[in-house]
Amino acid sequence: MPYILGCIADDFTGGTDLANTLVRQGMRVIQTSGVPPAGFPVPDADAVVVSLKCRSIDPREAVSQCLQALDWLKKQGCRQFFWKYCSTFDSTPQGNIGPVAKALLEALHAPLTIVCPAFPENKRSLYKGHLFVGDQPLDESPMRDHPLTPMRDSSLIRLLEPQVGEKVGLVPWEIVRKSPDAVSAALRDLQAKGIRFAVTDAVEDADLFTLGASCRELPLVTGGSGIALGLPDNYRKAGLMPRHDKPAMSPDIRGGTAILCGSCSEATRGQLARYRARNLPMRQLDPLLLAQGSAHVAEALAWAKAALDQNQPVLIYASEEPAKVKEVQEKLGRERSGLLVEEALAHLSQEFVKLGVRRFVVAGGESSGAVTTALAVTGLHIGPQIAPGVPWTVSIDNPAIVLALKSGNFGGPDFFADALNMLPWDKPWAN
Ligand code: ADP
Repeated sequence: MPYILGCIADDFTGGTDLANTLVRQGMRVIQTSGVPPAGFPVPDADAVVVSLKCRSIDPREAVSQCLQALDWLKKQGCRQFFWKYCSTFDSTPQGNIGPVAKALLEALHAPLTIVCPAFPENKRSLYKGHLFVGDQPLDESPMRDHPLTPMRDSSLIRLLEPQVGEKVGLVPWEIVRKSPDAVSAALRDLQAKGIRFAVTDAVEDADLFTLGASCRELPLVTGGSGIALGLPDNYRKAGLMPRHDKPAMSPDIRGGTAILCGSCSEATRGQLARYRARNLPMRQLDPLLLAQGSAHVAEALAWAKAALDQNQPVLIYASEEPAKVKEVQEKLGRERSGLLVEEALAHLSQEFVKLGVRRFVVAGGESSGAVTTALAVTGLHIGPQIAPGVPWTVSIDNPAIVLALKSGNFGGPDFFADALNMLPWDKPWAN
C-alpha cells in the first residue's frame, strides 16, 4: 500500500515528535533515519517521516537533501507532503526553513503552502504572525541566545521574507477562528495576489484542527508537529484509511533492558534522581577515565552483564551537574568530552545487543543519534506514547529493537520508570 502522507523532518527527535502526533490522531507511522537506501524494505503504514539532520547545515546542502527525500517519498506514492521544522522556527536569514519550503513547493508545482510552527498545548502560539513561547514573544524567550540560531524577531513574516526572497502573507486569527472554509477562501485570495507562503495564526489547539481541515487540497504543508493534528481526519473523510485507535506497534519484545543517559539537562538529572530511589542497578561513566583508555567501559560492561544475567534493567549514565561538566570540558575540551561519552554509549549499546538486550531507553538528542547510528537503525515503527513527544518505537531491522529516544528536556519526573512500566515484563521497578 502506498503511504498517504510523506514528511521530511529537519532533525531526528523533531521527526519522532511529528510521528507521535500523527499516531495519536490514529495513523500508522514509520520514521526513517535519513533517506532510505535503494531496496529499503518499505513497511506498511499510513505515513512516513524521513528524518534528516539539516537544521543548521549549509542551505544548499539542506535543499539538496530535502529534494532527495521528496523524490523518495514521491516514489512511495505519498499524496501529501509535510516539511517539519522546529516550533521555535529555528533558522537564520539564510535558512533553512524558507529555502527548503520554496524548493519543495516548486518541485511539487504547488501554488501555495502554509507556514505554521504553532502548538498552543506546548506553549507555542501565533497571533498576528508573531510567534510566542509561553508568555514571551520569540525574541524575548531563551531562543534569543540560542548558540546556532539566535531568534531576534518574533514576526514570522519578517523572518521568512529574506529566506524565501519574496512577499509572505498572513491568515489572521480572526479568520482562522471562523472555519476551514474561511481559511481556504483567505488562502485563495492570497494566491490570487501571487503570494506563495501564508503564515497562519493559531492561538488554541482547536485552530490547528481548523487549519488542518483547510489544508485538504494543499500538496505541501509546512510547520511544527502541531499543524499535523488536523491532517489525519482529512484522510479518513476521503476514505483513504480507517482510524487506528491503538498504535499499530506495541513494544512487545522480550529481551534485556538498558537505559543509556548522555543528557545532562535538568529534566534528565531529576529523572535520574527519582530512578536512584528505586535501588535498581545504575552506574556512572566518568569522561576523564574514558579518556584514559578502554578499561573504564570494559568495567561498566562487565558490571552490566552481571545485572542483565539476573534479569534486571541496567542504567548507565554520564550525566553531571553543569559545574562538573564545565570542569571536564576545560580539561578535555568540549567536543572531545562529548564524543568520548557518545562513543562509550554507542559501544555499550552494540555490546548489549550481543548480550540479548532488545529494549533501550536513551536520554539525550545527540546521545540518541550516537546509539541509533551504532545500532544501524534504518527505520522505526512508532508505538504508544510514554510522555508528550516521546513514544516507544520498534526498529524495522533484524533483530527488532525497542527504543525510547528522549531529547533532554522531555519527560515527566519518573520518565524512566514510566517507560519501563509499559514493557511486557516482570517489573522490579514498579511502584
Ligand atoms: P540533551 O538532549 O540533554 O542536550 P545530548 O545527548 O544531545 O543531550 O547532549 C549532551 C552532550 O553532553 C552529549 O554530547 C554528551 O556526550 C555530553 N556529556 C554527557 N555527559 C557528560 C559529562 N559528564 N561531561 C561532559 N560532557 C558530557
